[in-house]
Amino acid sequence: MNSLELVTRLRTFLPSEAVLHEKEDLRPYECDGLSAYRQTPMIVVLPQTEDEVAQILRICHASKIPVVARGAGTGLSGGALPHAEGVLLSLAKLKCILELDPVARTARVQPGVRNLAISEAAAHHGLYYAPDPSSQIACSIGGNVAENSGGVHCLKYGLTVHNILKLRVLTIEGEALEIGGGGLDAAGYDLLALMTGSEGMLGIVTEVTVKLTPRPEKAQVVLAAFDDIRKAGDAVANVIAAGIIPAGMEMMDKITTRAVEEYIHAGYNLDAAAILLCESDGAAEEVAEEIQRVNEIMMQSGAIEIRTSRDEAERLRFWAGRKAAFPAAGRVSPDYYCMDGTIPRKNLALVLSGIEALSAEYGLRCMNVFHAGDGNLHPLILYDANRPGELELTEEFGAKILQMCIQAGGTITGEHGVGIEKINQMCSQFKTGELEMFHAVKAAFDSDGLLNPGKAVPTLRRCAEHGAMHVHRGEEKFPELPRF
Ligand SMILES: Cc1cc2nc3c(=O)[nH]c(=O)nc-3n(C[C@H](O)[C@H](O)[C@H](O)COP(=O)(O)OP(=O)(O)OC[C@H]3O[C@@H](n4cnc5c(N)ncnc54)[C@H](O)[C@@H]3O)c2cc1C
Repeated sequence: MNSLELVTRLRTFLPSEAVLHEKEDLRPYECDGLSAYRQTPMIVVLPQTEDEVAQILRICHASKIPVVARGAGTGLSGGALPHAEGVLLSLAKLKCILELDPVARTARVQPGVRNLAISEAAAHHGLYYAPDPSSQIACSIGGNVAENSGGVHCLKYGLTVHNILKLRVLTIEGEALEIGGGGLDAAGYDLLALMTGSEGMLGIVTEVTVKLTPRPEKAQVVLAAFDDIRKAGDAVANVIAAGIIPAGMEMMDKITTRAVEEYIHAGYNLDAAAILLCESDGAAEEVAEEIQRVNEIMMQSGAIEIRTSRDEAERLRFWAGRKAAFPAAGRVSPDYYCMDGTIPRKNLALVLSGIEALSAEYGLRCMNVFHAGDGNLHPLILYDANRPGELELTEEFGAKILQMCIQAGGTITGEHGVGIEKINQMCSQFKTGELEMFHAVKAAFDSDGLLNPGKAVPTLRRCAEHGAMHVHRGEEKFPELPRF
């Protein structure tokens, strides 16, 4: 079926404004948050009901047309990058909160509902949805499920997968699956976990039942400044070793702190090599006790300055800087490339030194802002796409950071997914047998490979061509990178 035939077919059940095919209408959809990669889709569809989504899928399945799902398009790994000969399926108009049950503490929502909108709707019951990506004002819950998104508070409250109970998913054949349930365990394979983080490759999420969490009585944050990033890394390990699970524990290096301070005026120490934000929440007495212990640990770990938020306004101001780190990068550089690797916390300082060395080698600045408690790094490589060759250099630099994460015993993604961006690094992270398992799972859901083709799981051929098969810890694959 050619594009015009498909448009005609789709318009038999969708209003004409819900089927876009003119070049200028398609342009806003040609990339997600990873703007370095762009592709115009053949057609964009904007259904409003699950039934319309099912009909679109049936047509695409029958005619073997690729389908790429899109929520809010804030993804940072190119997961929603369109397919040139495919349909870009926007779920943005399925945005109803279908049910909110304050007694069961759950909400049943459509996939296009914004993450923050769930917490806003639950607020008057004293409840909220805990996973809080920094993009929460815009990103959709369907995208959160597809990426298994995290956020500042996931150290204590878990990732998306720990905060959802049920999914309604459409297969590529347009069949509805009900996955998960209200109980703690279910018979059969754990399809809920499998679907979470599957990056739109196994099915289209059309409904999500999320858990709601009671708002803590009190929250307070400690802002500690260090003259050496290693000391800050050790402070993170020391807090966890003391048996404390902070509500959030985030770190920023000097270049980030400076960029953020110019933009947000959060009151950060500009001479510090690193800044650590460590939050406690819960009952007032618990918070007071934990904050005192955190203060002591920061002092023992060598902090040069420690401040504790005195009221809610100050707590939000301390966090505002961290939450604005990505836009702050956009102010100091024409382009930035956000990496997302995770490492064991004990290797934080070593990996950060490695990134510093790579930054000097490539002549590109790198801002480090990260979920320190989870060991989830977000190096932001600053570059200028208009300078010939600089994007390629940036990609190489980023790839080396991810290789270093693997060598350090970590993974190439913490929360942003693999998408198109990290597909080659999957060849290093996994062995052939493991990749074959992934392909078998994909084939069980989508034997024609129509859902989000070319993303997340590389073909073995690609890996062979890329020349980077599985890297073992400590293997001398990249001897120039730090050893662990
Ligand atoms: C400034 C900024 C800060 C960010 N901070 C964080 C952070 O703190 N933590 C974090 O985890 N992420 C963060 N992100 C990344 C991004 O916001 C998340 O990955 C988010 O979950 C993507 O949601 P989305 O609705 O924009 O999805 P999209 O970008 O539209 O899509 C993401 C993936 O999900 C698939 N998908 C979307 N909807 C569906 C559906 N209904 N069914 C099946 N597949 C679907 C797409 O095909 C794609 O593969 C940040 C991004 C930005 C721009």
